[in-house]
Amino acid sequence: MPDNRLTARTTPNQPATAVEVAGEYIGGAAFTVIAGPCSVEGRDMLLRTAIAVRGSGARLLRGGAFKPRTSPYAFRGLGHAALELLAQTREATGLPIVTELMDARDIDAVSAVADVIQIGARNMQNFSLLAAVGERRMPVLLKRGMSATVSELLLAAEHIMAHGNANVILCERGIRTFETATRNTLDIASIPVLKRETHLPVIVDPSHAAGRADLVPALAAAAVAVGADGLIVEVHPDPATALSDGAQSLTLDGFDAMMRTLAPLAAICGRRLDLPIEVPSGVALGAESVRGETAHAALRVCA
Ligand code: PEP
Ligand code: MN
Repeated sequence: MPDNRLTARTTPNQPATAVEVAGEYIGGAAFTVIAGPCSVEGRDMLLRTAIAVRGSGARLLRGGAFKPRTSPYAFRGLGHAALELLAQTREATGLPIVTELMDARDIDAVSAVADVIQIGARNMQNFSLLAAVGERRMPVLLKRGMSATVSELLLAAEHIMAHGNANVILCERGIRTFETATRNTLDIASIPVLKRETHLPVIVDPSHAAGRADLVPALAAAAVAVGADGLIVEVHPDPATALSDGAQSLTLDGFDAMMRTLAPLAAICGRRLDLPIEVPSGVALGAESVRGETAHAALRVCA
């Protein structure tokens, strides 16, 4: 038996850990959606995406500054310039930032901007990188390696925790199998397995699992149904021109439509997914009169 002394649920009734990110809790009653472009490509596209996804109910903004790419000739991110754009977008929208750390030499620059540091699938077993983020107290989003077992994912999380950082969020993003219809195979069973074996929050990345935008809403719905704590989804204002992962990126409208179908499903599954609802100008909401502003209201389909 692997020694999962920090990540394991020691008794079936041990409460789940909710990781605090800028005043929000991932792994509590809420179903948390992180959305944004694969890569930060520029100021306008980032701000436009951030405003749109916030308006559709996303609670955090994703955006890659340092991109792991299979080909050395592919776009590898704007690096430090992207971090600056992420900081400005956070300032403008209030959305906390999730961005990937690929190299421990960049940890100060990334943690100055990020609210959550992402460790990508390719680095899940980069033990010196896990140690580096383990020595911080910041939330870490640890993505499952494409050839890693659930047990290896938990041991990677154990590395981070053994260095003193308990703020770990796990992410299932699809694994490599013989199947070629999808980019990866979403291991949907891994979510209830993980929820049983660990107290850590578990989210799903339907974008990298599918590799195709048309499949993302169905995989996202499956994630809600099996008890995931949230999603990380790629969204781009013009996926056809995206510099990375355009084929799997939802449009702004596509993301909005998906969120509207997920909200009632989340409610059926006992999770809160609050969507900002446009209140027409001058309409009274409770005691307050809201003038063309957005008000948060939970969509509930069952009492
Ligand atoms: C990403 O989130 O853009 C990414 C590269 O993901 P993964 O590490 O899961 O491939
Ligand atoms: Mn991507």
